[in-house]
Order: sequence, then structure tokens, then C-alpha cells
Amino acid sequence: MLNKTTFKLENKVAIITGASKGIGKSISKKLSDFGCKVAMIGRNKEDLDSAKKEIKSTQAMIFKCDVLDKNEFKNVTQKIYEKWGKIDILINNAGINRDKLLLRLSDDDWDDVININLKGIFNTTQIVSRYMLKERYGKIINISSVIGQIGNSGQSNYAASKAGIDGMTRALAVEFGAKNININAIAPGFINTEMTKNINEKKQKEMLDSIPLNKFGSANDVANLACYLSSDLSDYITGQIINVDGGMTIK
Ligand code: NAD
Repeated sequence: MLNKTTFKLENKVAIITGASKGIGKSISKKLSDFGCKVAMIGRNKEDLDSAKKEIKSTQAMIFKCDVLDKNEFKNVTQKIYEKWGKIDILINNAGINRDKLLLRLSDDDWDDVININLKGIFNTTQIVSRYMLKERYGKIINISSVIGQIGNSGQSNYAASKAGIDGMTRALAVEFGAKNININAIAPGFINTEMTKNINEKKQKEMLDSIPLNKFGSANDVANLACYLSSDLSDYITGQIINVDGGMTIK
């Protein structure tokens, strides 16, 4: 039985991007339930407000900030540091998709997905890692996707961004290893959130048939692993891409 002391996350400071909805909100809630101070970053103030209400924690702060606005993110990070004195955990979760077959993909569809999903992580990680390097402590978790490993028709931009995250995760694990900063990626399969709700029934049925556990995942399934990787129980794990996909990628 997991309880508040299992992960020893009390009073750790976490920044979660894309925290107003879906997986990011669920990770924020779970980290907060385990005693973390959580700084929730998102683009939409109303969504952030309602996410904060759901979390019901006095140790949660919200910040309207786009991960592509590096200066704004830098200011937000400094505010979090001034308030809580350290930054232990960074969850790079913000992400989008713009699914289209290659010939229909516009330059903007390509650039937006690569920029938010990949350059966004470069921005946030470069800024937050300065604070972690000073403390010689940090846990960074990137939310990737199984699509970066197996590909999918209509998702060339998304697959490229997520495969990029996997490579970046491994490279930074080598770079940060001696500084006691662990960096890992979680690759979810099909998770029920706003991102997946518009996938048509036929495609959903095909996907379900390819999942050995025969069900879609929940944001909570991803949050469970995020908590483990955020905690010191994962001290000897770095540079790994861990799938939360009901077995989809072994079939
Ligand atoms: P979602 O659409 O519910 O949430 C995405 C969040 O990211 C939103 O809060 C959104 O506002 C935020 N965001 C987007 N662009 C941003 C930006 N530029 N700056 C700050 N915040 C921004 O989707 P989700 O399913 O919860 O996805 C979360 C992450 O999980 C994404 O990286 C996604 O690629 C990944 N993922 C999801 C699934 C799935 O099946 N849902 C599968 C694999 C990977």
C-alpha cells in the first residue's frame, strides 16, 4: 500500500509543464498528494485555476507561461526558487499533436509540434538544470510517447519530436550523470485525455486490439511512474525510456 512516506517526496519542489490538463494535472496532483510543493505551468489561466482547485493543496502555485517563451519561463523559475529555495524535480510534459498525412502537413504543423514538444524541453531543461547543478541534485522526467519508437501513419511530426526527446534524454543522462541529476523519459501508449478523445472509433478499436492488457491507460497510470522516477527510489535509474502502454509495443 502506497502512503505519503513511500516516496519520501515531502517538501521536494517540482515544476510540471502542461499541468492544467490530462497527464500533467494528474502528475501534479499525485506529487502534491505525496507532499511535494508543485509549480504548475500552463498556457491557459482558467484551466490552471480549476486544476489548482482540484488539487486542493496549499503547496501548489500556478503560472501562466508558454514553454516556448524562454525569458518568461526563466522569470517564473526564478520566482519559484525565491519562494521555495530549490528545485528538485522537473516534469517536461507540455506537448501537442497535429496529426496529418505528410502531403497535407503544413510547415506550421511541423514547426509547432517540433518546437513545443522538443525545443520546449530544451528551454525548460537548460534553465532549471542550472539550479539543479548548483545543488548537485535533480530528477528530470520527460514525457515522450511510444509513437517515437514505433511510428504511426499521420504522425511524422509527432513521432520525430518524441524520438528526439528519447535521444536528448540519453544524451543528457550522460552529461548530468556525474552531477547527481537523473533524467528519464516516460513513453505512454494510448492514454484517455483530451489529446486522444477525437480519435475515431475505428482507429480506437484497432489500437485496443494491439494492446495486450486490452484497455486504454489513464493519466493516473503515467503519474504513478512519474512519482517513482521523481523519488529517490529511482536513484540508480537514468537515461531510460520507460513505456506505460499496456504492452502495446511488445506486440
Ligand atoms: P492534453 O492536451 O490533455 O495536455 C497537454 C497540456 O500541455 C495542456 O495542459 C496544454 O495546455 C499544455 N501545453 C501545450 N503546449 C504548451 C506550451 N507551449 N506551453 C505550456 N503548456 C503547453 O494532453 P495529454 O494527453 O495530457 O499530454 C501530455 C503529454 O503526454 C504530451 O507531451 C503528450 O505528447 C504525451 N502523451 C500523451 C499520450 C496520450 O495518449 N494522451 C500518449 C503519449 C504521450
